[in-house]
Amino acid sequence: MVSKVLIANRGEIALRVLRACKELGISTVAVHSTADNAAMHVRLADESVCVGPPSARDSYLNIPQIVAACEITGADAVHPGYGFLSENARFADILEAHQLTFIGPTASHIRTMGDKIEAKRTAERLGIPVVPGSPGAVTEDGEAMKIAKDIGFPVLVKASAGGGGRGMKIARTEKELPHALATARSEAGAAFGDDAVYIEKYLEKPRHIEVQVFGDGAGNAIHLGERDCSLQRRNQKVWEEANSPALKPQQREKIGTICAEAMKGLQYRGAGTIEFLYENGEFFFIEMNTRLQVEHPVTEAVTGLDLVHEQIRVASGDGLSLKQEDVTFSGHAIECRINAEDPRTFVPSPGEITHYHAPGGLGVRIDSAVYRGYRIPPFYDSLVGKLIVHGRTREECMMRLKRALDEFVLDGIKTTLPLFRDLVTNHSVRRGEYDIHWLEHFLDGEVG
Ligand code: ADP
Repeated sequence: MVSKVLIANRGEIALRVLRACKELGISTVAVHSTADNAAMHVRLADESVCVGPPSARDSYLNIPQIVAACEITGADAVHPGYGFLSENARFADILEAHQLTFIGPTASHIRTMGDKIEAKRTAERLGIPVVPGSPGAVTEDGEAMKIAKDIGFPVLVKASAGGGGRGMKIARTEKELPHALATARSEAGAAFGDDAVYIEKYLEKPRHIEVQVFGDGAGNAIHLGERDCSLQRRNQKVWEEANSPALKPQQREKIGTICAEAMKGLQYRGAGTIEFLYENGEFFFIEMNTRLQVEHPVTEAVTGLDLVHEQIRVASGDGLSLKQEDVTFSGHAIECRINAEDPRTFVPSPGEITHYHAPGGLGVRIDSAVYRGYRIPPFYDSLVGKLIVHGRTREECMMRLKRALDEFVLDGIKTTLPLFRDLVTNHSVRRGEYDIHWLEHFLDGEVG
């Protein structure tokens, strides 16, 4: 087993990883910027190293400083959390060259899945259902038109190097296609330095359903069911559930098995998420994330597993602690991402937390790194905490969530808590009837 883990992250996820290390008797090293001197992850770690000034580029993304921090402290492994360096294949390569264990997949798997065309091709080869579309990049407008007519309008033009929803254009008719191609190419070229685009069928009202997978790197792999993350704003997940209110157990079993078999074929190592759009009973692969995700606690709630423990075991070469037949699902879980943002305009609201009282009681988990008097710095993302609630049924979970939201006090800054108080009593949300566009319509006042 690894003996000292450097956590190359901050905020709630740094604490999350730190807790798992403590439980396993592993020493921890925090890294931090000068803006995070008073942060919880620095206080709770066994050791800490300042790696640079506030800007993430010069601190949390500063590879030479992070490698130097490992050498100074004698850390033998790095957990990247999510975001920052978690899907940076070069970082994984550099760690390996320094005989440091990267708690994550191989650099080559990160690279494959980081390129959308390559990822889609790989998924298809492994038997994962994909959105109908061009077999690779399209360079000729004539060829693009032929493919679009074959799959039928509307179509989506997507950048191969895309991310964060950028470089994507809808063409609803033949007439719109040339313009969509041109703008997607130029946006992608400007944003990513790569103007390769491809075409796929545009799905009108899908849900976002993703499958959690885990591999040991030696050909064994399991799935841990799905999460429904359809409640999104500008492609950012806001509320996540396990299991999906839209799936029946047989569908879960079927898509889960397809994903686990694919990961066996890939000899995938560590935690991964295979994301799908789901429409009319069919799954369509959109991308794979080769890391632990923000919303992993809902999977932990329904499976009773600690995903970070599993990551550390696998990275240490000890394999997974369980087989597929040992995985059981119990009850329902919901996560709310509480951001330091105005709940209507979503403008970030950094500043000092003047009062803080987190809810507790049966089935309530808070993953957060804030405390009363903590000053949220303006340099990083606005997530202040995650409220995760578990119940025996979805109804019980919703009742408990409402109670927990009522109990939550977080003053001094604006947060998205009022949005969740609205959502938990909303009829469509209570019935689980929403697609990926529903929340935007709700925020625009178009649906009640
Ligand atoms: P990114 O890496 O930029 O986030 P994704 O491929 O994950 O790109 O897609 C982001 C979002 O765009 C999806 O969550 C979905 O809302 C929408 N999207 C992607 N592909 C399609 C499609 N074929 N049809 C409809 N919506 C899509």
